[in-house]
Amino acid sequence: MSGPAAFAMSRVPPGIETPKLRRDEPLARHTSMRVGGPADLFCEVDTDEELGTWIAWARQRSVSVFLLGGGTNLVVGDGGIRGLTLKLGRPFAQCDWREEGTEARVVVGAAANFKRFVVDTLDRGYGGLEFAEGIPGTIGGGVIMNAGAFGGEMGDVVEALRGVDIDGQSRRLPSSELRFSYRHLDLPRGFVVTALEIHLHRGDRDVLAARAADARAKRGKHQPVGHPNAGSVWKNPPGDFAGRLIQKVGLRGERVGGAQISPQHANFIVNVDKARAADIGILMDRTRDRVWEERGVWLQAEVKLIGDWGLR
Ligand SMILES: Cc1cc2nc3c(=O)[nH]c(=O)nc-3n(C[C@H](O)[C@H](O)[C@H](O)COP(=O)(O)OP(=O)(O)OC[C@H]3O[C@@H](n4cnc5c(N)ncnc54)[C@H](O)[C@@H]3O)c2cc1C
Repeated sequence: MSGPAAFAMSRVPPGIETPKLRRDEPLARHTSMRVGGPADLFCEVDTDEELGTWIAWARQRSVSVFLLGGGTNLVVGDGGIRGLTLKLGRPFAQCDWREEGTEARVVVGAAANFKRFVVDTLDRGYGGLEFAEGIPGTIGGGVIMNAGAFGGEMGDVVEALRGVDIDGQSRRLPSSELRFSYRHLDLPRGFVVTALEIHLHRGDRDVLAARAADARAKRGKHQPVGHPNAGSVWKNPPGDFAGRLIQKVGLRGERVGGAQISPQHANFIVNVDKARAADIGILMDRTRDRVWEERGVWLQAEVKLIGDWGLR
């Protein structure tokens, strides 16, 4: 650890120098891809106040902050993440349901498990999130990524976001201030989502169960299982599918080091044998170049490449 983080470590906020603060935390442990070097400083926070204190503290000292969700849409560089990595703890995973007639308004903590929350809505007989059946990670990461599948996306159900801004102040952003687009949400810089306000409508349980089963079956049929991955690597270009293009240029099954373009679905990269982030980066560069040269399409990454990648 060096630079701002070393300076920072010697001056953690009063009352927060706790055993929870870790140095050089290996991020491969926190990502579904199972790659990534260490976070200089890593802390799980349990309250809005604690989160706000850390954010304000880091801002005053020019220490960069990264907010880690479930780590299912990330590839963290082998050099790790400089500065402070924060993760929302269990108290941010609670749900508060208000059911009235055929509608429900739910305040769900950003650290709640996305898959489990979807199952809960279906068990209670509410529709709106069936599309998300099987999407891993946290619901906070889900809204930041505007996660979606089979024609639905998070932006369809979110009424407002609660969170902490870059000055460490609590704020509520109503949906009129939220700009969702394909796998993206525009938020004020540094805004950390702590909870989502979601509006759901009661549906026919059999129909909901059938839709969820359909989504589950499609996922099981098309997506690779058994090896660590981070979901779709590339966004689908307008009118086409990234996986189809990658297959057409002959890269399905291509391997670099311990990383491989999945033989099952070419828009997935799987960690087949102790991959380094650099292996994944090389595969991604190769894919983007080949698809551009042979098909004239410039692919855009859906996974987020985070942290220190060095030269490759
Ligand atoms: C097997 C598999 C299948 C998948 N299928 C799908 C799919 O069908 N559809 C789809 O859209 N995605 C899919 N994904 C990708 C991923 O699961 C989703 O994007 C998920 O919603 C990411 O949530 P996360 O908590 O893991 O976020 P992370 O990967 O931890 O973070 C993603 C981004 O969100 C930011 N972030 C996370 N939480 C917060 C917060 N509380 N406040 C502010 N910023 C935050 C992070 O800083 C980062 O920039 C899949 C992934 C896997 C591994």
